[in-house]
Amino acid sequence: MSSRGCRSMAHNGVMATSGTDLDPLLLELVACPACHGGLAVDAGAGELTCTGCGRAYPVVDGIPVLLVDEARTPGA
Ligand SMILES: [Zn+2]
Repeated sequence: MSSRGCRSMAHNGVMATSGTDLDPLLLELVACPACHGGLAVDAGAGELTCTGCGRAYPVVDGIPVLLVDEARTPGA
């Protein structure tokens, strides 16, 4: 006699950090998928900017989206 079932959508435990508050360790691990250059945080734009090719990758909910297709290319 169990009528409670399983509640799986109680809370997902994700605390949204403000803007581009990225872990510095994470920044050392990630690299530009296009040229493997280093990435610098552009807090104002909420992006990670490649120091090599200049592509800018969006940061969504504190997670950098390192996809060449999603990147903004300079001058494009
Ligand atoms: Zn790059």
